[in-house]
Amino acid sequence: MGSDRYNRGMNQVDYLRISLVDRCNFRCQYCMPEGEEIAYVLQQDLLTQAELATLLQEVFIPVGFTRFRLTGGEPLIRPGVVEIVKTIAHFPQTQDLSMTTNAFLLAGMAQDLYNAGLRRINISLDSLEPETFDQIVGNRGRSRWQQVWNGIQTAYQVGFSPLKLNVVVIPGVNDHEILELAALSLDREWHVRFIEFMPIGNDALFNHSGWISSETLRQQIRERWGLTEGQVKGNGPADVFQIPGAKGTLGFISQMSECFCDRCNRMRLSADGWLRPCLLNETGQIDLRTALRSGVPTSDLREQVSELLRLKPEINYKQRESGATGTYSRTMSQIGG
Ligand code: SAM
Ligand code: SF4
Repeated sequence: MGSDRYNRGMNQVDYLRISLVDRCNFRCQYCMPEGEEIAYVLQQDLLTQAELATLLQEVFIPVGFTRFRLTGGEPLIRPGVVEIVKTIAHFPQTQDLSMTTNAFLLAGMAQDLYNAGLRRINISLDSLEPETFDQIVGNRGRSRWQQVWNGIQTAYQVGFSPLKLNVVVIPGVNDHEILELAALSLDREWHVRFIEFMPIGNDALFNHSGWISSETLRQQIRERWGLTEGQVKGNGPADVFQIPGAKGTLGFISQMSECFCDRCNRMRLSADGWLRPCLLNETGQIDLRTALRSGVPTSDLREQVSELLRLKPEINYKQRESGATGTYSRTMSQIGG
């Protein structure tokens, strides 16, 4: 298949990340730092369950979206999340449904989510040391690490597969644990993904600590165990590798050191119904909630979304040209990371 300057035709955009809520029960240093005022979406401005179902059935699925990820903020604090999973899982066109969560509430919900049709889950786990973990997630009371770990174990026992663990690497905070975290992929089919820290959410921390490139991490892992390019190339932004003989894999999401705009196959729907074509670029975003509530026919919304899909490669290309190292006014939790 050929491609033009924007690689049109190489990537079909069929993947929608849906933020169910912008609030969270954690305040991770790199995402929602303590003490910083965050302008949360008002309850009445959140897309309702019915509005979300209408948008998916009458707008997104007809224009070709078949893969969905539920995220946030923290998706498990959204009332009715199990029902939402059930609804989306049962659309005949849904080819893939997954969730990104901090797992704090997962132990008690994993079985219900599985029964509702969720099969894939990504869990943020930035540290194996309870103290470091609590420092990262902004905990001032009882340690939260054990409850998150229980959530991970329960999800594994319930049968979620693949089970992916996301680690944002922050110099001076958790970068001394790279090998221990990578070792989680040795004996179980767990996929540990290292994410380069981005200047989105906490500029002060970013300016102070900086970030570590995926290649630097790979070098450490290579020296310890060796590293082979994984057999399975994910259809997302991660470059997949494997420690020889390991059951699981290691993924590297390198949005700072390597631009992956060319293989971006996703759009993001915020909890208040804004559709964004690009994580780092608001060009062309559409306010679907206001349109829906003011009676704009869904056939018109389909056209608007189709037009944005047509423009997306160009929007990504411009983002790439401008570089991905600026700072951004909205956090991942607001955009739907
Ligand atoms: N609360 C859920 C969680 O933490 O998994 C889902 C939402 S969270 C915004 C989604 C992902 O964004 C997480 O993997 C988190 O680590 C990542 N993230 C948030 N802020 C980031 C930043 N500044 N740089 C890189 N990744 C970030
Ligand atoms: Fe919450 Fe996830 Fe952001 Fe941490 S990364 S504050 S868990 S939304």
